[in-house]
Amino acid sequence: MLRVFYDPTFMLHDCGPEHPESPSRLRAVMEAARSVGGIEIVEECREASEDELALVHKPDYIAKVKRLSGEKTVMLDPDTPLSPHSYRAALKAAGSVIEAVEYSFRAKGNRAFCAVRPPGHHAEPDRAMGFCIFNNIAIGAAHAIRRNLIDRVAIVDWDVHHCNGTQKMFYDNPQVMVISLHQYPFYPGTGGSFEAGEAAGLGYTINLPMWPGVGDNEYRMAFSDIILPAIQNFKPDLIMISAGFDAHKDDPMAYLNLTTPFFGEMTREILAMANRFCGGRIVSVLEGGYNLKAMSKCVVLHLETLKE
Ligand SMILES: [Zn+2]
Repeated sequence: MLRVFYDPTFMLHDCGPEHPESPSRLRAVMEAARSVGGIEIVEECREASEDELALVHKPDYIAKVKRLSGEKTVMLDPDTPLSPHSYRAALKAAGSVIEAVEYSFRAKGNRAFCAVRPPGHHAEPDRAMGFCIFNNIAIGAAHAIRRNLIDRVAIVDWDVHHCNGTQKMFYDNPQVMVISLHQYPFYPGTGGSFEAGEAAGLGYTINLPMWPGVGDNEYRMAFSDIILPAIQNFKPDLIMISAGFDAHKDDPMAYLNLTTPFFGEMTREILAMANRFCGGRIVSVLEGGYNLKAMSKCVVLHLETLKE
């Protein structure tokens, strides 16, 4: 059964009127989710504890965000505001991914999509970055391993931006394979193919940089030639997706050309891997996506495929 995790607090995270990461994004995502039949929608998520955040974040950073949270909006980085409700939204965004991971282990074929704000994949151990406060997907992956639920997690990040935060958190860790497809060179500047992990984690970071203008065909080749063989060798116990929808051809934020059906195709490829290696377990977590129409259609296809 596919379960969508959502919490109304996510809508209260307020980046200001001109900011592209707006509550209307999530409104569009949830409208799309509600149009898909045969799935469960959870409307309240728990907050992650400070211990859970500390699985990937420095205690000083967690304390700083908590301290700055108040009645006035402050900037955590030039792109990342902390509004009065942002801390609670960020705790619940991370908490929803923890809940989704636990749900995925409760029964075979349990899959989840976390419709969260703020997003997470740019957040580094000691700083907010690129609209992200806490790294939701990384906290979920680290939780799964700590609880001894599993030995190996594969994270596939198809957001158009490189997941600098997720990469940093697991760079020397052979238990978490981080695979990222992204426009390059581009924000945040990292994600060259030479960045491949270090120490015991060498080979477990896989970066697939894409030139502006690249579309479905190049992504298809990346899946068949690199991503699927890597996942086959790794044999993960859980596959997680950093599901951004900003590599879509109509997205205003970047210059890649993926079509709407291709988001269904990528989901299907990952689903096939999950069915082969990890009892069908997939936890997908919303990252970017700024053309609401395109994102809605892609989310419908993503969920329709995940619910199979
Ligand atoms: Zn993005």
